[in-house]
Amino acid sequence: MTRTQTFIDPDRLREDLEGSPPDSRDFQRIAQRIRELKGLPLQDVKTLLRVVDPLQRAQILELAGWVKDQIYGKRMVLFAPLYLGNICSNNCLYCGFRKDNISLVRRQLDQQEIARETLHLIQDGHKRLMVLNGESEDIPLDYILESLKTIYAQRLGQNRIRRINLEIAPLDVSGFKLLATAHIGTYVCFQETYDPKIYARVHPSGPKSDYEWRLYAMDRAMEGGLEDVGIGALFGLGDWRFEVLAMFEHAHHLEEKFGCGPHTVSVPRLEPADGAELSRNVPHPVSDEDFKYLVALLRVSLPYAGIILSTREKPELRRELFHYGVSQISAGSRTNPGAYTGSCEATPQFSLGDHRSLAEVVQDLVENGFVPSFCTGCYRRGRVGADFMDLAKPGLIQHYCLPNGLLSFQEYLEDFAPPHLKAKGERLIAELTDSLAKSRLRDRTVRGLQKVREGQRDVYY
Ligand code: SAM
Ligand code: SF4
Repeated sequence: MTRTQTFIDPDRLREDLEGSPPDSRDFQRIAQRIRELKGLPLQDVKTLLRVVDPLQRAQILELAGWVKDQIYGKRMVLFAPLYLGNICSNNCLYCGFRKDNISLVRRQLDQQEIARETLHLIQDGHKRLMVLNGESEDIPLDYILESLKTIYAQRLGQNRIRRINLEIAPLDVSGFKLLATAHIGTYVCFQETYDPKIYARVHPSGPKSDYEWRLYAMDRAMEGGLEDVGIGALFGLGDWRFEVLAMFEHAHHLEEKFGCGPHTVSVPRLEPADGAELSRNVPHPVSDEDFKYLVALLRVSLPYAGIILSTREKPELRRELFHYGVSQISAGSRTNPGAYTGSCEATPQFSLGDHRSLAEVVQDLVENGFVPSFCTGCYRRGRVGADFMDLAKPGLIQHYCLPNGLLSFQEYLEDFAPPHLKAKGERLIAELTDSLAKSRLRDRTVRGLQKVREGQRDVYY
């Protein structure tokens, strides 16, 4: 079968990965370019993918931490996943929700159950959710739209969910147009693997078996009016270097066509899932060392994109990756519908590496000098899509990220933190506020923090 040409040319990508590692002059030239914070051209990404020298790799890890600090400051955005259901017409060989897994108890939450799950997450202190679902023709888009309204409508005192990112199967342009009216933040969809041959093998049936339909999902989303999109690959299915290069090509394609690259890049690694044999025999396992390097490489090559790390990874590795460029993490996660309120007998979509509660993850971040951020300021002030990129690229976004992150964290401390965490958090807020240069920005942050302490909520710039 001849394949239509897409922006991914697998043979060329594979050729690009061959060749010798950079000599030290070439490497230092790229390192210098990274310090300019403008990202890297394709040629340099290919070169860095050939690096094997541990010292050069260590330098990229360090640079990634520096880049993240320059652009976003010390803030780490937190969110929780909320699964609406596990009914699916696809047969992704790695996923516990796949259609042929007949031992899985199937559930699709009704609106009351969704409301209860949401309230549980609000009670924990969450403000941002990633809403997920299986893919089934029996579940209409109207159900998703109604669920989004239900989630946004839940209140616990002054607390509510302020941003929903959505990870559902790709739609056509008219479907995305409807989503664009539903106030979602980022639309997320992982290509899983950019290698068409592996893609065909691991997606044997169902609508998801169409590689190109998925590959152009973000084009349709942007044509439909969604401004923030999130891409990703499921690491373990194919060669990680191929997937990183292809993700970079994907970002480049969106930037060329729409003037704006992906808002986020996700780096899920394949985890064991019940009823999914392939997940226990990972075809191309990615070692922790390679995983750290690939995260760092994405940070230095796409400095303006948020990098999302989930609770698939263990706490120790997550902690390390905070220093190499990750900017958003999930916390206190469950990957089965109804799990937060305990109303689900179904097994999870896959097993997790980090089982800590949100409060425990917050404490860990604080002890490592990071501000847990629940901020939704940019999205609600319309700093999205190309406007966000215009601020992120010259490094101006940190003027919003750190102050807004501090304000949202102060809220968390007032409303949800146990006393010992509150004391530690207050100390960190004081330190970081002091570190802001004397300016209108610092005055504004101090005033904002005072307002939050006095009971005002949802203070942001
Ligand atoms: N069902 C939709 C889809 O596939 O696009 C929505 C997203 S699905 C609920 C969430 C993601 O979980 C998938 O895109 C896949 O990358 C990931 N996933 C599935 N099985 C996994 C496993 N065993 N380990 C880690 N991630 C997995
Ligand atoms: Fe269904 Fe998504 Fe799982 Fe595939 S990854 S079986 S589409 S829920």
